[in-house]
Amino acid sequence: MIIQHQNLTNLASAILAAAGAPKENAQAVAAHLVEANLKGHDSHGVGMIPSYVRSMLAGHINPANNAKLIKDNGAVVSFDAELGLGRVVGMQAMELGIERAKQLGICCVALGNAAHLGRIGAFGEACADAGLVSTHYVNVVGHDPMVVAYGGRDRRFITNPFCCTVPRADGKHVILDMATTTVAAGKVRVAHMKGEAVPPNSLVDENGLDTNDPGVIFGPNAKGAMQPFGQHKGYGLMVMCELLGGGLGGNFTMQPNNLRQGATLNNMLSIIIDPAAVGDLQAFDDEVTAMIDYIYASTPADGTEKVLIPGDPEQITKAARESRGIDIDDNSWNDVIRSGEAAGLTVNAMNAMHG
Ligand code: NAD
Repeated sequence: MIIQHQNLTNLASAILAAAGAPKENAQAVAAHLVEANLKGHDSHGVGMIPSYVRSMLAGHINPANNAKLIKDNGAVVSFDAELGLGRVVGMQAMELGIERAKQLGICCVALGNAAHLGRIGAFGEACADAGLVSTHYVNVVGHDPMVVAYGGRDRRFITNPFCCTVPRADGKHVILDMATTTVAAGKVRVAHMKGEAVPPNSLVDENGLDTNDPGVIFGPNAKGAMQPFGQHKGYGLMVMCELLGGGLGGNFTMQPNNLRQGATLNNMLSIIIDPAAVGDLQAFDDEVTAMIDYIYASTPADGTEKVLIPGDPEQITKAARESRGIDIDDNSWNDVIRSGEAAGLTVNAMNAMHG
């Protein structure tokens, strides 16, 4: 199914509104999900709608809630998201963080108890668009773990994303935005939906042995787990996302005394820095540009067309998908339509929306 991004946004927004999100929040979340599809992260695109609708209908998240400022120490601010929609509460927290970083040179923003934040790069991009450097440590809670600790067999984490951004005057920001697992859980779900294998070192079976079968995570008797990327080093970053994003950002880690109702929730600790407060802004931008040009001038390895920097693949995919449309596999599409029906929309009404 190929669908143009504007039509997909209208459909996503209508489904989220029918499930109980205020219109403005439904539109913001729909645009956030479709932007993830446009940037090639189908794992965090409209395929998340069934999970959002289930959580809203079950009352596990509160789509009308805003981020509530619970502690204000000037350059350190803490929010309780009160289970509000991740895109909405996340941007509210970033707005104050950006304002304070511009005033004070730096701001640390804690955001606890948010419904799924989706593509974390969106929050990094908001900082970069304001000319600010940012780092975001995020943990994932609210449902059972699915990732092993390095050297372990038992599930202890979810896919704890990490994001770090460097703004550039020409708008071509450097955006590192990634799960700390070899592949994002949503990509394992998409592979399972499409009947495809996942890359090596992504998953383990019930015996802790490497497997490329996504059925060990999403199949009927799934007993496997995901692996952190990069052995002990990626695992170390995953632990820091858990302790800083979860422990400090929201007092809500995966430890078993915390609630697991089946919703996907996030906690995030963001550190936002104004480079103008650190040194000379022009010198920073010139140095970044010179280094990036040096990286781009690398001779590509056999089989690689061009050396890229973090954030490039998303821009390339976005340009292609904005013109050609977004390809959504049949299983994911049917799940989205079924979630629309569960929220009270008819198939005919939904068909009319996507043209
Ligand atoms: P990915 O592996 O596709 O990309 C990770 C990073 O590597 C990106 O910054 C990308 O620009 C960069 N990259 C990719 N190929 C590159 C290349 N050839 N050269 C240079 N840089 C390159 O991303 P992912 O780990 O699958 O994560 C996908 C999305 O999932 C992210 O947006 C992340 O925030 C999101 N996520 C969210 C949650 C959550 O709970 N909210 C959890 C996990 C992941």
